[in-house]
Amino acid sequence: MSHYLRKNWKITSAVCFFQITEWGLQALLQILLIQQFDSAMNFDFKRFTFWIIISLISWGIYFIVCALQECTQAKAVRILNNQVRHDLYISLLHKKHQEYHSQDSGEYISWMTNNIKQIETLAWNPFFDCVGRVAQVLWSIFVLFKIHWSLMIASLVSAAIMWSFPKLFEKKMEQIGKNCSDKQAIAISRLKDLLSGFDVLRCFNKTEQFIKKGDSASDQVEEPAYHLSCTSSINGCSMGYVSVVIQILSDILIVALAFQGKIMPAVLAGSSNLFAGVANGLNKFSTLRLSIAASRPYFEKITAHDTEKPKKYQEKWEPIQNAITMENISFSYEQKPILKDMNLQFEIGKKYAITGPSGCGKSTLLKILLGWLPEYNGKVLLDGKDSRSYSVEQLQEQIGYIEQNVFLFNTTIRENITLGEPFSDEQLQKALNDSSLSNDLASMPDGLDTVVGEEGRNLSGGQKQRVAIARALIHNRSILLVDEGTSALDKNNADVVERSLLNNSELTLILISHHLSPERMNQFDKVYHLKPLNDIINQSN
Ligand code: ADP
Ligand code: MG
Repeated sequence: MSHYLRKNWKITSAVCFFQITEWGLQALLQILLIQQFDSAMNFDFKRFTFWIIISLISWGIYFIVCALQECTQAKAVRILNNQVRHDLYISLLHKKHQEYHSQDSGEYISWMTNNIKQIETLAWNPFFDCVGRVAQVLWSIFVLFKIHWSLMIASLVSAAIMWSFPKLFEKKMEQIGKNCSDKQAIAISRLKDLLSGFDVLRCFNKTEQFIKKGDSASDQVEEPAYHLSCTSSINGCSMGYVSVVIQILSDILIVALAFQGKIMPAVLAGSSNLFAGVANGLNKFSTLRLSIAASRPYFEKITAHDTEKPKKYQEKWEPIQNAITMENISFSYEQKPILKDMNLQFEIGKKYAITGPSGCGKSTLLKILLGWLPEYNGKVLLDGKDSRSYSVEQLQEQIGYIEQNVFLFNTTIRENITLGEPFSDEQLQKALNDSSLSNDLASMPDGLDTVVGEEGRNLSGGQKQRVAIARALIHNRSILLVDEGTSALDKNNADVVERSLLNNSELTLILISHHLSPERMNQFDKVYHLKPLNDIINQSN
């Protein structure tokens, strides 16, 4: 938390300045009130009018400062929230492929929405209020000291009590805050899963289940928040009672001093407010401190990656000139072995096909080549250099990938292909032809500017695959890994695409396919047949 406040010290200081000024003006207004009372009690109307005018001006200034403080605080919260989200994106980018997918996207969405909202209500706003409350307490103590030293001592004693009281709750609140964050993330991911499965439930007439599960997930979101807010209120009320007792004791002291003639009677009008300022300020401050303690687990999620030592990679990416060699590669998902002692070689510029039954590890093999699954045994050598000495970003400079389950962003076909890069019209046209997407576009009124819908829902499976192929082709990586990239295409379109890939002499192609016709197989330099675990049958052409 302090990291973010320090990073934005200018706006943070501005908010603190306005908070301190606002509470300083509050204390000043109490002095003005005492003066008004004193002049009224002495029937000095000239003095009374003077203090009334000063009071009116001061109240005006006070509200201007309040408005400035609130606007600056809102701006600061906006900047801080955006920065926390920014760091969350970075922390996601630090995750390895498997680590990223070990949590589902619903949980990440919960981080970006719920957690940020909680950070705002538990940390940012309470922090600024805390500064204000400390200022309120200090200003009140200062003014009380000016009236009589014993009032200051009394307020300091009350400060000590109010300070130590919340310590009793601090640990528990932190624990409850953590539980709340974890439970909400799980509930949100269940909700997301349920919404994604809408079509399945409707298709099987399980709409009741949709509502039942929705209700249960909804309460799972609400329940921890309710628990947190109840505990927080109970703590707040107990502290409120302690502060009232302190305030009553202080009132007794003020009255005693006035009876002894040590303070002027008019002081009674303002000093009880000042005393209340110390007590309320401290009471509020203690509650806010607890709230800030409960925000700690939310910050830990963002900074978790900071503790890991960054891995050292080769400084420069040297394009692969000769071959990629897989030596004795074995790989397991947790305890489940998928690949065992596999030896394969892919020479640059040649065309390879990998076939094999579903589940035998073809996609896993491509992900190892992409550098996404670094926890394998054996070696992947790029011109003799260990692939693990390069970062995933470096590998992806030369290796392109068409995934088995195509993902499209909910934007235009153009943006899904270019991913924001400024390609020329010729480059775009070539990619559209080679992926045989041009025919589809001809029948779409908006052409390349057709919006594809959530996860590309407005396109057919084949069209989605053609967009993915165009995306990979235009990015022009010299090694292309295609995971069943043509499986959803009809024979004609598959022919067009496969021919264009095979005819590209500079391209190194590693294509996974369930079924390849004998004629097609002959066009590859080598076909590897994978069998579930171990056996690879090489077929060279
Ligand atoms: P293929 O592409 O040949 O159909 P995959 O490489 O996708 O096969 O998967 C091989 C096996 O690994 C399958 O049995 C699959 O269930 C399992 N598998 C794939 N991904 C994961 C994962 N992330 N976690 C656990 N098991 C997985
Ligand atoms: Mg697969």
